[in-house]
Formats: sequence, C-alpha cells, structure tokens
Amino acid sequence: MKFVDEYRDQAKAEAMAQSIARITTKPWSIMEVCGGQTHSIVKYGIDELLPKEITLLHGPGCPVCVTPLELIDKALQIAARPEVIFCSFGDMLRVPGSGGDLFSVKAKGADVRIVYSPLDALKLARDNPGRQIVFFAVGFETTAPANAMAVFQAHAQKIPNFSVLVSHVLVPPAIEAILSAPDNRTQGFLAAGHVCTVMGFEEYLPLAKRFHVPIVVTGFEPVDILQGILLCVEQLEQGRAEVTNQYARSVQREGNRPAQALMAKVFRVVARKWRGVGEIPNSGFALQGEFTAYDAEARFGVAGYHVDEDSECIAGQVLRGVKKPQECPAFGKRCTPDRPLGATMVSSEGACAAYYQYRRHQQTSQTSLAAGKRS
Ligand code: SF4
Repeated sequence: MKFVDEYRDQAKAEAMAQSIARITTKPWSIMEVCGGQTHSIVKYGIDELLPKEITLLHGPGCPVCVTPLELIDKALQIAARPEVIFCSFGDMLRVPGSGGDLFSVKAKGADVRIVYSPLDALKLARDNPGRQIVFFAVGFETTAPANAMAVFQAHAQKIPNFSVLVSHVLVPPAIEAILSAPDNRTQGFLAAGHVCTVMGFEEYLPLAKRFHVPIVVTGFEPVDILQGILLCVEQLEQGRAEVTNQYARSVQREGNRPAQALMAKVFRVVARKWRGVGEIPNSGFALQGEFTAYDAEARFGVAGYHVDEDSECIAGQVLRGVKKPQECPAFGKRCTPDRPLGATMVSSEGACAAYYQYRRHQQTSQTSLAAGKRS
C-alpha cells in the first residue's frame, strides 16, 4: 500500500478484523502505549470490530498526560516571571496544574507563546537578547532529538538566554513497570511506530523475553493497528513472545543512529515521575555535562518543588490500563475537555478526551475491565 487512504480502507480493516476473529480462541488483553494509536482506536471504533475475547487497554502513551503535576506547576512559576518568554506546544497550555494552567497565567499578563518547534524558541532567544526564553521540552523519544538539537545549537551558538524545562519520558521502562505491577493484566503490547522510528526495537527484545509478552511495533492508521493486533494475537495463541515489526515502512531494527547519538550527547537517563503512575527508574532524560547550563529548573530555582497529585482524578489507573475513562466518576460530569480535572482529558491524544469526544453517550458496562470482559 502506498497512500494513507489505503490504510483507512473499510474493506481491508474488516478483513483484518475477521482474520483476528478466526484465530482467537481465548481472552487476551493487549495494550497500546501511544496516544495517537489510542485516538485512532476510539475514533475509528477499532475495538468494536474485534471479537469479544480481545480487550484493548490504553497505556501511558500520551506525553502530555504523563507530565507530572509538579512539572506543570514549575512551568507556571517560570512563565509568570516578567523576564521570561515561555514557549510550548499548544496542547500543554490547557494542562491543569494545582493553581491553573498556562493559559490562565497568560491571561494574567505572562508572555506565553505557542511554537511549532524548539528551534522557533531558539530563534526567539536570538531575537530577544534581553529576555529569558524557556522551552517546555515534553515528550517521548520522538520529540527528544529535536529538543536535544535546540540545546546543542544554543550551546554551539553561545545563546545564554535560552533554557529548557525538560520532561522527557521513555517507553521501555514504562512497559517494564506495567508488567511488574501486581495488578497487571496486559498480555501483549503494540509498541509505538514513531518512537521505534527513532529508537529501533532492539531494547524491546529483553522485555519480550523476560516477561514472555509479544511486542508488535505498530503504525497509527486503522489497518496498521488491526494488523498489529493480528500479529500479537497470533503469537499469544501460539505461546510465542517475540518482537515483530508491523511498521516496516518506517521502522528499522537499529532506529535512527544519528538521532540517538545526539540524544546521548545532550541527555542522561534518570528516574522520572509519570503523572498518576509515580516514579519509574531510568524512565526519562535530564540534561548532562555542559548542557546543564540550559536547565530551566536550575536557572529559575524550582528544582526542589514537589506537590501531590489530585486525589479525585484516576488518570493513573486509566494510564496503567486498570480502568477505562467512563469508570471515573468525574468523567463527562465534573471533568470535560472544557473543564478538565486531569491531563488525560486535556490532550487530544488522552484516553479520557478521546472517549469523551467519540463515546460519551456509551455506558461504562460496555467496556468494564473490572468485569474482565465485555458485557
Ligand atoms: S475523566 Fe477526568 S478526572 Fe477522570 S480520570 Fe479522566 S482526566 Fe482524570
């Protein structure tokens, strides 16, 4: 197939779903760890095409959703400073911290700007030498190379008024944490195609072996996702646990080596907090060596700030696949995209927002995981 329409072809999708139904003999729970895949699954009703034995769980795959509350609070504190121009991708502006969001800080007079690349923020720094330009560097391994490049360029070009608030997280340690949890119910994974385009898939091999779970690198269109599920179910039914690559049109085993080399130069691997999940060892990036001079947390003295998560929001359970969004008592009532209580309702890739947009009239019982199967 050459064109994106072909990956959304209804007949091909239905044929793939029938292939899954033909080989499925028992219940299986499969988790995607990518907000883009979650959005496609809910938008196109992919889960509703599947046999009732297959349950799709939506893991911590939305980078906006897993950014911890205290990082949002730090962003609010830095953005409120008069000397700062705070730059971010647009979806971070509505993520609630404990005392508002970046939009509310902007409404009070702070200089908060939406950019489309960290290099746009770097240009702002060059053009405004009298201001401090801070970029909110959020994301998985997909956005890390561009953010590493911005810091590398700032250092090479000696731009002292540029810094980054880093909140980078890594997928394999999150999969390991999910599989190690006592309440884990995931038996197979769809790995995110864009993450593996950068990182390759060699780091998933030990996970598949140690936990005996199939991991299928998968794309984002409906036919991609259904084929990823098919490859995963084939392995589950045959008792195999291997890493396979559905997204071969983009992903190579070794990934993008130059991008990995740049990340290794600028970042070091550290423990990171995941919103609703808690701290996961070796699950994120921090600046290292001479690049720590561009660390906004240190520059603005917010590194020691800590805050507890909102107890009403159960996004942590949603992100671990333990509950579906409709099982949250606040879903669609006190928590909506207009008035989000938690980050999974803010981002368009968040599971709560996707269910609200496409499934808000459906009842909890249809997708209850507590029942262990669909009703
Ligand atoms: S519906 Fe809102 S409060 Fe409930 S888990 Fe989702 S984001 Fe949190």
